Amino acid sequence: MAHLSDIEIAQAKELQHITKIASKLSIKEDDLELYGKYKAKLPLHLIDEEKVKENNLVLVTALTPTPAGEGKTTVSIGLTEGLNKIGKQATVVLREPSLGPVFGIKGGAAGGGYSQVVPMEDINLHFTGDFNAVEKANNLLSALIDNNLQSKVNNLNIDPRTILWKRVIDMNDRALRQITIGLGGTANGIPREDGFNITPASEVMAILCMATDFDNLKERLGNIFIGFTFDKKPVFAKDLNAENAMAILLKDAIKPNLVQTLEENPAIIHGGPFANIAQGTNTIIATKMGLSLSDYAVTEAGFGADLGAEKFLNIKSAFAGLNPKCVVLVATIRALRHHGGAQKEEYNTPNVERVAEGFKNLEKHIENIRKYNIEPVVAVNSFISDSDEEVKFVVEACSELGVHAVVSEGWAKGGEGTQDLARAVVDVVENKATEFKPLYDWKSPVKEKIATIAKEIYGADDVIYDKKAMLNLRRIDRLGFNDFAICMAKTQKSFSDDDKLIGRPTGFSVTVREIEIAAGAEFIIPILGKMMRMPGLPGKPASEGMSIDNEGVISGLS
Ligand code: ADP
Ligand code: MG
Repeated sequence: MAHLSDIEIAQAKELQHITKIASKLSIKEDDLELYGKYKAKLPLHLIDEEKVKENNLVLVTALTPTPAGEGKTTVSIGLTEGLNKIGKQATVVLREPSLGPVFGIKGGAAGGGYSQVVPMEDINLHFTGDFNAVEKANNLLSALIDNNLQSKVNNLNIDPRTILWKRVIDMNDRALRQITIGLGGTANGIPREDGFNITPASEVMAILCMATDFDNLKERLGNIFIGFTFDKKPVFAKDLNAENAMAILLKDAIKPNLVQTLEENPAIIHGGPFANIAQGTNTIIATKMGLSLSDYAVTEAGFGADLGAEKFLNIKSAFAGLNPKCVVLVATIRALRHHGGAQKEEYNTPNVERVAEGFKNLEKHIENIRKYNIEPVVAVNSFISDSDEEVKFVVEACSELGVHAVVSEGWAKGGEGTQDLARAVVDVVENKATEFKPLYDWKSPVKEKIATIAKEIYGADDVIYDKKAMLNLRRIDRLGFNDFAICMAKTQKSFSDDDKLIGRPTGFSVTVREIEIAAGAEFIIPILGKMMRMPGLPGKPASEGMSIDNEGVISGLS
């Protein structure tokens, strides 16, 4: 039988009206802001802090991924279906996809196979407009900055050469990385260098995901650090009175979006920072909403556990007082073969020796999760190309480490294929959950915090600071930003800052090239290696394989 593509499976589903999904969460119809029949926004007053404390938060993360992704979103959705099947009321809480990967290499982020959230086209494209609102709020600040350079009224004397704030667009577009603006004479602005980041790397996105309510959102937007005046005084968004107008543009974007899974269970999708160059998890508001409305909230943090999970735990959970009770580590046989040295052409060829060698990568992630005082469950995301021998190896090797590894068949079977995983998660939540503990204290010195992550999580021996990074550290100190969280920007392909070091590298150091400041988000962002905050498209982008027919039916979106 030929396999149906993700979009074919999604399109074959007859969707329930969103009011029906909301009623499963006891949300009154009057509390739904409908965006058509299948999407709705939820008001913030549905958050109940008591329930946030009482109910069960499960984080889904993964081993170090191959470029295709190892199935965290797919497993998160599948696990939610499985939990509901075994009688636990569960909601999946995810990020919104970015158009960069949708049209680039990786594709969308609405799950796969029989574990998807729907309507998948809408979720992967403009959805309810949150990304557009983030982009507009970001670019309003840019426009206000350039207007101030030009204006005779309230001119702040900003030195255009020091402006750190960039414009954003949700597209992989490398030609926008460095640009010159304001050309064309005195009527057309002050010429200066500028550049674009991709929207998921915008500080406004980071702020939206950290904000706890409107007042907190405004305060954070006002605290955005822009650059310096000619007499070297720092300039913030509030100096341009920008925070209220920016917050107005985010008035709907701050509210989480409700949709459904293929098995008609609730899914909350909200916010979308990348995990390599930003914090990689959805909004605090959405996570709290999921916990307020259901016994189990299953959420995902991007890329490997060295990136998304590290930031989910040390930044988001530490700030918001969340207590994840179980971490699901997604592993694929394919990625284990890769970490064992298999070339791309061999990814689908069984080879237990490679898997055994590659297991060292998973083992390090298991050790890392335990450093947070949380018990992991390993989900082996089952692929057709897996051999029984390889799967058996992984289950037994995990068992030797005292970890329950369960084969997850959500992609092929939906909730029918994830009940064992659901039971393993419930066992940890009900019998083994302890108090989560962050890895570092935000109040520790900056270099100490960076060293803790690099040594404890990545396994590095040392952290090297380039000259620019040293100057950035002095600036951070001068501006009084030492107590911010650390939001590492690092490749997702390795524990180290070198793409090529697969498996469990040892005997390496990481290099901090520069350190960006996100004062509104309350992060400082050490940039390791060659990380870029605006990706490019590949030689043959996914966009080339897509089409829409005369009835408006889309194909080729994955
Ligand atoms: P992640 O969230 O870790 O990046 P996704 O869940 O988005 O990964 O999955 C990446 C891609 O792999 C998707 O296109 C999905 O359809 C596909 N996929 C996931 N799990 C499986 C599986 N078990 N078998 C085949 N394809 C899968
Ligand atoms: Mg994902």
